[in-house]
Formats: sequence, structure tokens, C-alpha cells
Amino acid sequence: MIARARVAVRGAVQGVGFRPFVYRLATELGLAGWVLNSSAGVFIEVEGERPAVEAFLARLTPERPPRAAIHSLETSWLDPGGYRGFEIRESADAGALTALVMPDIATCPDCLREIRDPANRRFRYPFTNCTNCGPRFTIVEALPYDRPHTSMKAFTMCPACRREYEDPLDRRFHAQPNACPACGPQLALWDAEGRERARGDAALGATVAALADGAIVAVKGLGGFHLVVDAADARAVARLRERKHREEKPLALMFPTLDAVRSACTVSALDARLLTSPEAPIVLLARRAGAVPAVAEGVAPGNPYLGAMLPYTPLHHLLVGDFGRAVVATSGNLSDEPICTEARDSLVRLKGLADLFLVHDRPIVRHADDSIVRVMLGRELVLRRARGYAPLPVPLGPGGDHAPPLLAVGAHLKNTVAVSAGPNAFLSQHIGDLETPEANAAFERVIESFRALYRLEPAAVAADQHPDYLSTRFARAQGLPVVEVQHHFAHVAACLAENDLDGPVLGVSWDGTGYGPDGTIWGGEFLRADRRGFTRVAALARFRLPGGDRAVKEPRRSAIGVLYALLGPRLRDRRDLAPVRAFRAGELDVLVQMLDKGVNAPETSSAGRLFDAVAALTGVRQVMGFEGQAAMELEFLAHDGETGGTAYPVRIVEGGPAGPYGPALVVDWRPIIAAVVDDLSRGARADTIAARFHQALADAIVAVARRAGEPRVVLTGGCFQNRELTERTVRGLDAAGFRPYWHQRVPPNDGGIALGQLVVAVSRA
Ligand code: ZN
Ligand code: ZN
Ligand code: FE
Repeated sequence: MIARARVAVRGAVQGVGFRPFVYRLATELGLAGWVLNSSAGVFIEVEGERPAVEAFLARLTPERPPRAAIHSLETSWLDPGGYRGFEIRESADAGALTALVMPDIATCPDCLREIRDPANRRFRYPFTNCTNCGPRFTIVEALPYDRPHTSMKAFTMCPACRREYEDPLDRRFHAQPNACPACGPQLALWDAEGRERARGDAALGATVAALADGAIVAVKGLGGFHLVVDAADARAVARLRERKHREEKPLALMFPTLDAVRSACTVSALDARLLTSPEAPIVLLARRAGAVPAVAEGVAPGNPYLGAMLPYTPLHHLLVGDFGRAVVATSGNLSDEPICTEARDSLVRLKGLADLFLVHDRPIVRHADDSIVRVMLGRELVLRRARGYAPLPVPLGPGGDHAPPLLAVGAHLKNTVAVSAGPNAFLSQHIGDLETPEANAAFERVIESFRALYRLEPAAVAADQHPDYLSTRFARAQGLPVVEVQHHFAHVAACLAENDLDGPVLGVSWDGTGYGPDGTIWGGEFLRADRRGFTRVAALARFRLPGGDRAVKEPRRSAIGVLYALLGPRLRDRRDLAPVRAFRAGELDVLVQMLDKGVNAPETSSAGRLFDAVAALTGVRQVMGFEGQAAMELEFLAHDGETGGTAYPVRIVEGGPAGPYGPALVVDWRPIIAAVVDDLSRGARADTIAARFHQALADAIVAVARRAGEPRVVLTGGCFQNRELTERTVRGLDAAGFRPYWHQRVPPNDGGIALGQLVVAVSRA
């Protein structure tokens, strides 16, 4: 099968023979396409048999010319472009040029060698960097990117550092954060009261000793604080969970080496490439069965995956290297607040969380959480776009060149913002759930700093239609025209931009919650869409959520709502079903009354809530500890299960209530739920039921695609973080002759909403 990959390479790749190298590699592999040099980086498109394209991607970094250094490499898979031959294209630098701010870059091999060399003047210096690595986005205050415009301005370079900085032949020529032990930032270890216990290398030594003793240490890193504990120490991990009020959510791990990751997890070639990339994200990896218990069960209870990363600054290399085994490295914050960035502030905000604080005196100008990626269908899927990726642009595609600058403020959960400048959308780092004053402050700070950094005066603001979202209210208060974009349409538009599509497509937009313009909660939508607008072709049948918002945390409530749609008040007699048993009789009566009367029981077509309902029915989970937990656990079950060839019935019926928002078709899931209940009473295994349920939803998507007749189908929304659902759906669509698309560089969850809002606003501008 012919595949096309688009690659954006940033770094020291100009004037070092990089283009001829790309040309040679592509022609050797028999690939067509082109390579183009521009002020924004080197752009490549290669097209050919998929294995040849994959070989090209795998060899690009390791075989690059000796003087080339890659700081960032982003790949997107696109439809074949019908190229013949491979050409070196002339650079086209027409149009608005927006200065590129680089993301933070993981420590390069040269710097790593220096900090490990006792004869080097940077031996064990935690702030070593060069033009090929080190902080960027988290230290820049203004453009152009010069030292006086960074938080390194407080440090005056010593003569040795200055010589490097001024020598065009030196690796540190114009390395803005250049520093050494004589002139640069220093470490200190504080106790919980902020009293200094040790400095410099002694602070590091004391930290390692404390970790071995089971302490929780707040470590100030690149884009904020981590809370760090020994990953093998079950009691320390339990204490961290207790203090962080994070009872079940998986904690990220930092391993000293790739081999150490391999001893705990299954690592594919692509996983390894991601772990060791300049972006150095957290990669979700399957745990190895029977692995040495270097990771306490409490790190990710009941979870077959671990979130693993490698050290990405010299400080982390020294800390985890000295410690010698994996540590938990989770964001230094309370539950869902933004990550903490300042040392003094951390003493207050992390009070009672950390026993010790390993800090340094280089200010963090803006926060950046660790990014999260997952390999799905042989490609990477970014689930959280932050350190290493932000604030690199995503091409807007058609219409982008002529649009005025616009601001998009994103959604409510997993918020990110975006601005358009010329043909590009600049996406902010992950900000978080806009639920706390800290998060709201971070949201406004990021917008302000984006405006200042790119010197943009937006002509309009794009926002969600939800009137109560803080982001929407912010947009309305700006005194600018507001473009309101329906939530699920924004998901589809983001996926269109990522795949360089214009539409029309069938957009399958499935998530937990989004504001429906018809007064119901949407979340299981099929939209015929292009970049300008949509019609609601189909939706999941609606059901009522007893107790409204409380259902978000309690899958058992979704289950009661779904059972009510199936059985009516008789559901009370089904004490054999786990969610019915999960309520006392009196409570159940109240819920049924709510459903009978339609009071405090809003209607929804949410796919996420349907997943919750089935998770409750199969006994997986009645009440959640964190967002998405029930659906995630159902996915894990489905992964282990077999459908045994049994398919749950899919029923698609004509029309819902009349109105501009349709839907023309309704996916009636009641036969599916009836089959689940049937399987349960027959004592079928939960993993079998989970597999059959996932397959039934994939079948339903294919059935709607057949009715809709759009050859291209876009899969988006938080539900498509689910690998079982995505893989089964993509396989089904492929087999039925459709062309499925899904996310790559931008999260399918609400982290991608800002991009979608921008795409729609640009197309209407
Ligand atoms: Zn370096
Ligand atoms: Zn120096
Ligand atoms: Fe959403």
C-alpha cells in the first residue's frame, strides 16, 4: 500500500548537507516526494510503499550528516499525493514570517558525555546545555531569542563560557542558556520550611539518599516541579498518593536508561525512538509479564500500561543515574491544578506533599508538563502536547494564508489555547482543567504570553458554545468578535487540519460531554462536515443521566440511565446487575423518580457515558477515582477478551426529533445493552463482554458510514484515545472500503479543541 509521510525537522539542519542526505536516502529507498528548506525548518514529504517510508523515518536521525543536529522531528501520515521522483525544492519564504520559538530539547549525547567526564569542566553540572539541547520555551521571555530575553539574563557568563558563546566553531556558539559551574545556576536542597540543607553536588547526593529512605522530594526541573519517589518503594508510593489525593490515577515513571525501561515494559522500535527523541515524552507502554518488580503495584494499580520516560535534562540524568533505578516523577501539583514552577511558591503549594525540595535558581518563565504519547496502529498519537512539542506550529491548511490573526481559547478540561499567524496554528502547551483559580490564572497567563511573544493582536476569538465554560466567558469579555464553535465540530475540524483534509467527511466525534445547541448534552455524534460547517447525520440514542453532573464520576448512574431506557422502572428488580446493587433501595427509588419525571436527569447522546454504563454493568467500576477511568479499564478488559465470533446486534433507525440539528439517523444501542445483560445473566466473562461491546460500537460506526456514504471518515474525540475502539473501527472501515483518519500530532481529547476552533474561525474569516 502506498503511504505518504510529511516530516517537519527543526534544528541545525541548514548548511550541513542535510538536504542532499535526505535526497540520497529517499532515492535509495525508491521513495518519491520532495525536501524543502525554509526559515521555519526543513520540510520533507516521502511517498512509497509503507515499509520503505517507515525505513526512511527510522534512518533519518541515526544516519544524518555528522554536523546536523535534530532538535525536533514531527511526522504526519497523509493520503498519497501521486508524486513521481524525488526533488529538492527551492525554499518558499513568501508570506508572513512568524519567528519560531523552539520547544525545550532533551540533553544531547555530547553534553551527556561532558557531565560524565571527570576531566571536563562541566563534570556533574546539572545545567549543562549547548545549541543542540537545553531549555528554550520555558526560559524565553520575549523575542528575538537572545540571552537578555531569557531567564538566564541574571547569570553573567564567565570568560570560558563567553569564549564558547562567541566562537562560531564551538558547539556553544550563541547557545543562549550556556552556563557552567562557575557562572550558571546552582542546586540547593531545602527542607519543608525552606531552610537550606545542602548546595550543589551535595544537594544531589542528599536527595538520592533521601529517596532511598523513602522520602518524597519535590524536584524543580525544566517546566515545573515533579514529585519524586522511589518507584520500587510501595510505602513511599502509597504515601505520595495519599498526600496528592490521587488514589488511583497512574503515576509517570522516569527510568535511568532505555534498558531499564525494557526490563519493565515491552518496547517496540517506534516506542524506543520516541523515548530517546529530543522531545522525550512519556510513552505509554505495556508492562512485561513477570518483569522484575522494580515498579511497585501502586504506581499504576490494575493497569497493564506504564507511563515511562527517560531523563531529559542533565539534572534528571544525574539524579536518576545516581539513584540507579526508576523513580516516580509526577507533576508537582495537587490533583488537577497546573504544575508548580517557582521555588518559593512550591513551598506553599506543595506544603504537606513533599518532605524535601530540590530547587535551583534559574527561573521558569512558563510551565510545561511532560508530554504523553501512545503508539496506536503503528503510529504515534500525542495524548498530551506539552514539553518538547509546544509551541511548534501545525499547518492550518486551506485558507490559512489569508486569515487575520485569531485566538482560540479551547474547551474546559485539558485546556490548551491556540493562535493563528499566517498559514500556521501555534498551539499552547497543555494548561489543564479550568476548575481552580490556579488553572484559570495559568490560562490567562498563557494567552497573554502568547500574544506578547508573537506580537499578535487577534481580530476575533474562537470559543466553545458552552455559555458556562470559563474559556467562553473569557472570550466574550475581550471586546472582540466571538466565533462560537460547537464542541464536536471543533474535534472534527482539528482532525481535518491534522490530516490535511478539507472535507466533506463523516466526522465521528465521540467523547464524554459537549454542549449541544439543541439543549441536550452531546457526545456520540456523526457529523457530515467540512471546515466551515456541519450537519448532524446521526447520533447515539439519547438517555437520561440521573443526578446530572454526578454521573460524570459515577458510572453506576450512567448504567441506571441506560437500564431505564431499556427496562423502565422495572430496572429496580434487577438486583442481579452490579450497578443496581450499587445503590440502596431508597436511593434507587429517588433515581427512578428523577428519570420518570425528567428532573435533574439531563438527556445525553454521550458515547463516553455509554462506555461508563457498560463498565458498571460488567462490574468493572461503579464510582471513578479519575476522569476516564471506567472506560479505560473496560478497554483493558476488551484487550484481553475475545468476541468468540459473536456480534451484538446494531440497530440504526430513522430520524430523531425534527430540528436543524437532526439527527437524521439514530444509533439505537438498546439491543447492544440487552445483549450485554443477557451475556451477564448467562455468566459470560467480563472480558468477553467488553470485547463484544467494543466491536459492536465499531460495527455501528461502519453501519452509519454506509448510510452516510462519505468515503472519508474522521475519528475524533476523547473516546478515540481508546486503542481497542480505534483499532476495531479502523479495521472495520478499511474492510468496508472507507478511508479512516485519526489523530497524530494533536490530541483526540479536548486538548485538540483549540486547534479545531481556530480552523473553523479561519475558514469563516
Ligand atoms: Zn547539548
Ligand atoms: Zn561559565
Ligand atoms: Fe470533547
